[in-house]
Amino acid sequence: MPPVFSKDSATEERRASKAIQVTGIVQGVGFRPFVYGLATRYGLKGWVCNSSGGVDIEVDGPEEAVRAFLASLREEAPSLAHIDRITVAELSGNGFETFEIRESVTRAGRFQPISPDVATCEDCLREVFDPADRRFRYPFTNCTNCGPRFTIIQEIPYDRPNTTMRTFRMCPVCAGEYRDPANRRFHAQPNACPRCGPKLWLEGEGGDPVRGARRLLAEGQVVAVKGVGGFHLACDATSDVAVRRLRERKGRIEKPFALMSFDLEAVKRYCHVGPEEERLLLSRERPIVLLRERHDSPVSLLVAPGQKYLGVMLPYSPLHSLLLEPAGPWKPLALVMTSGNLSEEPICRANDEALHRLEGLADAFLFHDRPIHASCDDSVVRIFRGRELPLRRSRGYAPFPVHLPFPGVEILACGAELKNTFCVTKEGYAFLSHHIGDVENLETLAAFEAAVEHYQRLFRVAPSVLAHDLHPDYLSTRYAVERARREAVTLVPVQHHHAHIAACMAEHGLRAPVLGVAFDGTGYGSDGRIWGGEFLLADYQGFRRVAHTAYVPLPGGEAAIRRPYRMALSHLYHALGTLDVDLPWLEGVRREELQVIRRQLETGLNCPLTSSMGRLFDAVSALIGLVLVATYEAQAAMALEMVADGGVEESYEWTWARDGYPPPVGEKGRAGERPEQGSLPYADPLVVNPAPLIRRVVEDLHAGIPPSTISAKFHNAVAGMVRDVLIHLRQREGVSRVVLSGGVFQNTLLLERTLRRLEAARFEVYTHRRVPSNDGGIALGQAAVASVRTGGSIPCASPFPV
Ligand code: ZN
Ligand code: ZN
Ligand code: FE
Repeated sequence: MPPVFSKDSATEERRASKAIQVTGIVQGVGFRPFVYGLATRYGLKGWVCNSSGGVDIEVDGPEEAVRAFLASLREEAPSLAHIDRITVAELSGNGFETFEIRESVTRAGRFQPISPDVATCEDCLREVFDPADRRFRYPFTNCTNCGPRFTIIQEIPYDRPNTTMRTFRMCPVCAGEYRDPANRRFHAQPNACPRCGPKLWLEGEGGDPVRGARRLLAEGQVVAVKGVGGFHLACDATSDVAVRRLRERKGRIEKPFALMSFDLEAVKRYCHVGPEEERLLLSRERPIVLLRERHDSPVSLLVAPGQKYLGVMLPYSPLHSLLLEPAGPWKPLALVMTSGNLSEEPICRANDEALHRLEGLADAFLFHDRPIHASCDDSVVRIFRGRELPLRRSRGYAPFPVHLPFPGVEILACGAELKNTFCVTKEGYAFLSHHIGDVENLETLAAFEAAVEHYQRLFRVAPSVLAHDLHPDYLSTRYAVERARREAVTLVPVQHHHAHIAACMAEHGLRAPVLGVAFDGTGYGSDGRIWGGEFLLADYQGFRRVAHTAYVPLPGGEAAIRRPYRMALSHLYHALGTLDVDLPWLEGVRREELQVIRRQLETGLNCPLTSSMGRLFDAVSALIGLVLVATYEAQAAMALEMVADGGVEESYEWTWARDGYPPPVGEKGRAGERPEQGSLPYADPLVVNPAPLIRRVVEDLHAGIPPSTISAKFHNAVAGMVRDVLIHLRQREGVSRVVLSGGVFQNTLLLERTLRRLEAARFEVYTHRRVPSNDGGIALGQAAVASVRTGGSIPCASPFPV
């Protein structure tokens, strides 16, 4: 029970007056009502208000009470709040009569972090399903503890006139709730009710829009649903007809669709849900969680062809709960809820835009009139070793900042190309954007530019430094270069894999140099070649490429990425010097194409070189006949992971050599062995060669070993190689701190096997927890590197020249 200070007892005590500033995520999370409640409890006078820098408070009262108030401010803060700093200054005059919530003030140049969108809380959901409540079945019910935030905020401070709720005038009852300090909706900016708030309708139809949409969904139709961060395309996930219809219309052949179910109980009917997964599904962020599908699952096989995992989320707005409610004649188990767009385009957010762009994709449109200011796709997370492993960081997470381990100038880091996010920095905060998409066309570039402007305005960032990928043809690179030409800003190019490693370092606040392992599909190398199997000795300032996988040709360039069998042929040729191998799938490759590839491999024509680990996974996947042609990114590698037999502990071998030398056949790097240095300079990278591994895979295939065993042996081989190379590098460089990054490490089988080996060898290993290991995390790394290179305080002496 907190002490209560009455007026009478206070008269004899010493008094105190303080001006308090609270920074962090303190707007839109019920912070002012909380402060109001505290001040009342301790009998203090004064005021609280939102400012563009956070929340400002002035209090006056007995010294003891003021002290208790300050302690409670931090200890009892609302669960959605995230306090970074509380500064307290003495106040001289006072004379407050009451404690009040004042109008917000704007201070030039100040900024403050913004809350991500929050899933409907239990109190609100109870009201939505309570026939006696005035918000019964109202799809836009929210309160101080839940509801849209980032997607409706147009400007700071976070007040109703600065959101897309501006146009809705609160009715007297809602206004009463909004003004009542004892009410859960006290100063809840998106507060609304059926009388005064946003409306829902099924385009072109009368009647109850939810009932109408449910009827269409039950019939197997596709409905475009306007949600919180954009449109979804929804259909019944248990209907082959419906899912096939959606696939055909969306031009999405095999890439898995995300699902949504009413509650945990429903999810457990088709997926295995562990305790950590349960917590994540129910979290206020409500991401899509990857769950292992049950064998008796009634979900259509067309939802995620060839996958053992399904991406599942729970409703995060009352509208979703109403659509999925198991009541009446139709009791939906799960709906497909996929982004409302054509493949790889930005997600739709406005009604007229949806009518235009989703025409032909959806049979009906479930609209509402609360505008979405910033679109935001669903986030995707999986549980690994009981912790979150982010795959896409977007709604519910963005724009929650990451703290940089060092201060620096204001930066815009433009990210990479696929799965683009960008990052702006200010006063030690790094605001990594929501998922933008594959910035390969003008539509996505436009979305990128609009989002950059929005973040700059919201967080009051005027970047003097633009960081970008080394790849000259990425649209994000061109944006940076062109903008630098217009504005007097500094360009900082950051090598792709260095950015991957720096992202993981920044997220963990690491300072000293690390041994970084960056495995991914494609990244532009410092030598102009395509990198992707890299060992870097790195800090933020720079890196040295200490080892990499051997270069092999990419026959036909991009074509080899879409057709993994081309990579298989490249690795076969690299390992055996011939394509005359007896493999069943080779019969399926057209004779003329085979001729062309053979000539390309022999002459090196139209064969850029790559050290990509992602492409090696593709090659092995095709080699054992799993995925010959990929219809979406990383499909072949994912299939290889899915098929692996977890019980197999055997492995394959690699050879090592110094760069520039042909790999000495039969020589194998072993743990602790120090390869000959010969006449080569010490800094030359070590090259690990998969040729012996490929030869053994072919032998196994001919011996009738099943793909499940070959895949497991291959995973073990990659994990073992990483350990062996790192043991060698630790001896040579004296660094035992390891960072694993790059899209290949989304493969949890590989990650687990690698970690197990590295832990046994007593390495200190860091993996991603807050940003994706894929290119969605690149921008954070770019920002960290650019910050240090442009004068941010370097936390330790860097061995790398500027
Ligand atoms: Zn609520
Ligand atoms: Zn109302
Ligand atoms: Fe990458």
